[in-house]
Amino acid sequence: MTTSREIHLAARPRGAPQPSDFSLVEVDVPDPADGEVLIRNAFMSVDPYMRGRMNDAKSYVPPFQVGEALTGGAVGQVVASHNDRFAEGSWVVHSLGWRELALSDGKGLMAFDPSLAPLSTSLGVLGMPGLTAYVGLLDVGRPAEGETVFVSGAAGAVGSAVGQIARLKGCRTIGSAGSPEKVAWLRELGFDEAFDYHEVSPRDALHDGIDVYFDNVGGPTLEAAISALRVRGRVVACGAISIYNATEPPPGPRNLAMVFTKRLRYEGFIVSDHYDRLPDFLAEVGPWVRDGRVQYRETVVEGIENAPVALIGLLAGENIGKMLVQVGPDA
Ligand code: NDP
Repeated sequence: MTTSREIHLAARPRGAPQPSDFSLVEVDVPDPADGEVLIRNAFMSVDPYMRGRMNDAKSYVPPFQVGEALTGGAVGQVVASHNDRFAEGSWVVHSLGWRELALSDGKGLMAFDPSLAPLSTSLGVLGMPGLTAYVGLLDVGRPAEGETVFVSGAAGAVGSAVGQIARLKGCRTIGSAGSPEKVAWLRELGFDEAFDYHEVSPRDALHDGIDVYFDNVGGPTLEAAISALRVRGRVVACGAISIYNATEPPPGPRNLAMVFTKRLRYEGFIVSDHYDRLPDFLAEVGPWVRDGRVQYRETVVEGIENAPVALIGLLAGENIGKMLVQVGPDA
């Protein structure tokens, strides 16, 4: 038996989450039984979808329960193992995060070799957000060489990968983000155009037209992108972070009739349906990350006690690249 700290949902937020909606709780963790492993987490992933799970609403993942631990992506080291598939000392990616120590029966654990890439990339550019960018862009958006791809939330974990993969596939790329520092980074990454949506309206920025819109934010940016799409354009509906804290259903785009007048395709996807593409993703994007053709940034908050602030900060745009919480030693 040992002790661990974890983050619980203390109350369901109304609007933007507050620190009082979370609590830090110390719990006893039993020794692993037959078939189980004990994992000491190094990094926890902070993801926008976690905000949706704080509501008591039916969705593609069940809601978090008040008084219980949150869960989320994490990577950590196996510190005790009674499972032949995972040796002590090995590193694994799993979904039992938001705690320092995780006890697992081995189901859903994925090995990660930190000699091939930094451990934290397993939760970002080479993990779930990177795969989201890859399948969303290539399988849903299906851009052709020479087409223009616009991505919102472009300085985030998913968006920064979308823009760079699109460029490597021969597309013209436009990205929007929420600060001058983020826009400067997009230019460094090679986006053909980048704009701060607080300063420039997406309608003005997209006046030359686009072929694919990778939507991370919804709201007015989606409406502007629908207007800017050319005939047979595509919207990749990945997320809608601008409405995650909404207390009332937000108005829909007023120009949806353009979906048929311009023969647009509007298609949503959830990355967990596409893990069959993980080997292709790692084979293609892994080398790009290792040789620098795909770059990434991470915003790392230290200490499990600061995880709630990290999630609140993510929703407020305080991250550049992937938002992580470091809760234990790196590899
Ligand atoms: P990010 O790293 O992009 O972080 C979230 C960013 O959203 C913030 O940094 C902020 O950047 C931006 N943001 C916050 N509020 C607003 C707003 N009102 N309007 C516009 N932008 C806003 O997160 P991820 O890369 O992890 O996720 C990006 C999107 O992808 C999210 O919508 C998420 O839900 C979705 N997603 C979907 C998946 C799927 O399977 N369909 C899987 C993973 C993610 P800024 O400063 O630019 O405003």
